[in-house]
Amino acid sequence: MLSLGKNDVSVSDHTVLLSIHDVSPIYENHIIKTCDRLQDLGITSYSLLTTPFYKLKTSNKFEKKGFFSEYLQSLGLEITMHGYSHQTKSGSNAEFSKMPSDRMRLRLKQGLALIRNAFSETPVGFIPPLWIAPNGLTKIAKEAGFAYCAIGDIVHNLRDGTKHDTSYNIISQGLDFTTYTNATLETELGGPLQIGIHPLDILNNQLLDFLADLKDRLGYNFLSYSDYLFPS
Ligand SMILES: [Zn+2]
Repeated sequence: MLSLGKNDVSVSDHTVLLSIHDVSPIYENHIIKTCDRLQDLGITSYSLLTTPFYKLKTSNKFEKKGFFSEYLQSLGLEITMHGYSHQTKSGSNAEFSKMPSDRMRLRLKQGLALIRNAFSETPVGFIPPLWIAPNGLTKIAKEAGFAYCAIGDIVHNLRDGTKHDTSYNIISQGLDFTTYTNATLETELGGPLQIGIHPLDILNNQLLDFLADLKDRLGYNFLSYSDYLFPS
C-alpha cells in the first residue's frame, strides 16, 4: 500500500466499492441473473463496468434502444466505461497495460462515443480492465471528461485530485474461489475493498455467497464508485 499524502483518503472500513465487470451483450443472460441475485441480497448500489466493443466483435456492440441497453438503463445504476475492447493485440485482457498515451486517448474517445450512442448518457468514470493502466491514464481520463478513474487499489477523484485507497482488490475469476480466500483476513478486520463481479460468477455461487456473508455477518456496505465519491 502507498503511504497516504495530503490528498489521500482511506476508504472507510466496512465499505465495498462494488461493480459488475465486462458488461457486454455477449453476457446478457448472465448479467441479468447477477443483477437479480444482487437485488435479492438487498444490494442496490454498484457500478456497471461497460465495455463498448468487447473483443472487437461487432456483435458485442450495444444496440441503441436494444432490449439489453434499455434493461441496463432501467436499473438506474451507474454506467462506467471499462476499457474499449478489453483486449491487447496479443490477446491479453489487460488492454491498457503499457499502452502509449496517444492510443489511450483514442480508445477513450471512441469508446465514449459508442456508450453515448447506446445509452444516451455519459459515463462519469473510467476503470481500465483488471484495474491496470499506466499512471498517465488519470490525466488522459480527466481531459476526456471523466470525473474519476481507478488504477489498482487507488480510486482517483479527478474533480478534486483526491486519491482514495482501498486495502484489497478482488477480481473474481468466474469459476475459481482462491482470490477471495486470500482476502479473508482483510474482510474479517473490516478493511475497505473493491470487488469486481464477473458475469460467469453466477454459474458458481461462491462469490455471491461471499457478498452475502460480507453484508449480513460482517456488516459491509456496498456502493457504486459514483455513490461513494459524489454522494447526492
Ligand atoms: Zn474486465
